[in-house]
Amino acid sequence: MADNYTQLASYAAQSKDSRGRLVAEPSPQFRSEYQRDRDRIVHSAAFRRLEYKTQVFVNHEGDMFRTRLTHSIEVAQIGRSIARALQLNEDLTEAIALAHDLGHTPFGHAGQDILNECMRDYGGFEHNLQSLRVVDELEEKYADFQGLNLTFETREGILKHCNLDKARQLDELGLRFLQKSQPGLEAQLANLADEIAYNNHDVDDGLRAGLISVDQLCEIKLFRRQHEVVKESYPDISGRRMVHEIIRRMINDQVSDLINNTRQNLVKSKPGSINEVRALAEPMVCFSADMRDLNMQLKQFLRKQLYQHYRVQRMSNKAGRVIRNLFDAFMAETKMLPPEQSERCRLSESSQGEVGRARAVADYVAGMTDRYAIVEHDRIFDPSALT
Ligand code: MG
Repeated sequence: MADNYTQLASYAAQSKDSRGRLVAEPSPQFRSEYQRDRDRIVHSAAFRRLEYKTQVFVNHEGDMFRTRLTHSIEVAQIGRSIARALQLNEDLTEAIALAHDLGHTPFGHAGQDILNECMRDYGGFEHNLQSLRVVDELEEKYADFQGLNLTFETREGILKHCNLDKARQLDELGLRFLQKSQPGLEAQLANLADEIAYNNHDVDDGLRAGLISVDQLCEIKLFRRQHEVVKESYPDISGRRMVHEIIRRMINDQVSDLINNTRQNLVKSKPGSINEVRALAEPMVCFSADMRDLNMQLKQFLRKQLYQHYRVQRMSNKAGRVIRNLFDAFMAETKMLPPEQSERCRLSESSQGEVGRARAVADYVAGMTDRYAIVEHDRIFDPSALT
């Protein structure tokens, strides 16, 4: 089955040239290999749980904020637009985008940082590696293999970064970190589509929550120049409608810059295939130097004004304690794990000792949604809670 609706460029990933799956399978009849990957991701349990996991705002803070599910869909939308403009493989881009956050813990980065601390003596916890673990091992749906048995290219895109120690423990997927080579263009692109999506939606959510203001944002050039354009065209515009008009222009500004700059890079280095892309010294999908600076300014603003806002810090702190308490309680008494996790933990411990036990507990805690973690915490620590 053909890959795309438009002609793919020579440097795009193509199903027929895929490095394949860990367990060989016959090709699908009516879909490309990457469509199949995308479909398996959409049907996974981990994907459904993204609905109740958050990045900055905890689920119960309001129904209007982004969740990891809506974030992943926005990444896929931005990624597909760019992929089509560059004649890259849209299906592969979409598969990577939809899977990129599957390994995230509950409560966003606060959750990941605490779980990493809990796992310090047991090999650490890193959400990127965990996303790979979800699709390679943790999903249990298929009779012939563990995980989703995705193609090499989708797995390559999911593993955005990886330290050298961990890279040595991986199969051929770890090689590029050791050899300092590049992933395919679809993987490079999904990574930046992620960045465009979260920078812009965090501005939107931050404004909605009242943690940052339009006046403050006007200090940021990326925002200010679109604010000026919108106010000039619509002098009376205000409120949510004005914010949306600004943000959609900011996204367009970044996407256009990325497409134009990447096109220039590709014209210069003329990679003839995905393998030639991988062998290049630098990534090809990147912003212009100007846009990189503007993005940096926005990121610094968000870090200081939003992610370190005292109200966000309070929630992060609380969330961290929930994760730490759950991890410690299950580590101390694995008999409290539900039967399926308990069995997994027993097997893991019998082959790897305490490290195995910790990994199984981390898998369980990482898989929780925000609200499930809170309920589970109550069940274990609140004496009056029903079990
Ligand atoms: Mg993301």
